[in-house]
Amino acid sequence: MPYDYDNQNIFAKILRGEIPNDTVLETDHALAFNDIGPQAPVHVLIIPKGPYVCFDHFAIEASDTEIADFNRAVAKVSQMTGVAPGAGGNGYRAIANCDDDGGQEVPHFHIHIVGGHNLGPMLS
Ligand code: C5P
Repeated sequence: MPYDYDNQNIFAKILRGEIPNDTVLETDHALAFNDIGPQAPVHVLIIPKGPYVCFDHFAIEASDTEIADFNRAVAKVSQMTGVAPGAGGNGYRAIANCDDDGGQEVPHFHIHIVGGHNLGPMLS
């Protein structure tokens, strides 16, 4: 794999408890916290606890248990925050940026759950 995980990235420091975070949900293999610079009324990041950089790295290298736990955490966040139609909300966007062309700032795989108002078309 071409991925070289940087143990000093900010989410690694959050996972080690070196930097505080506003936790929404913690599971065996995932941590969800409010984004420090929210782009919408709901903006939560969900990160796996393992050292993965991008979605493909995670989905190929992580165990089925980690992947299932992480996916379930993303779904729970969408419901806990009230944006999922299954929880009475109007919907949300799930975003995973990867590397330079994807505009990724923090090189630890994460999904943004964004919602709480109408986000419009994605590529506008
Ligand atoms: O997908 P990308 O890597 O660009 O997003 C990183 C996100 O991490 C940003 O939305 C930023 O606000 C957030 N962040 C955070 N807490 C930090 C540092 C960054 O929520 N301590």
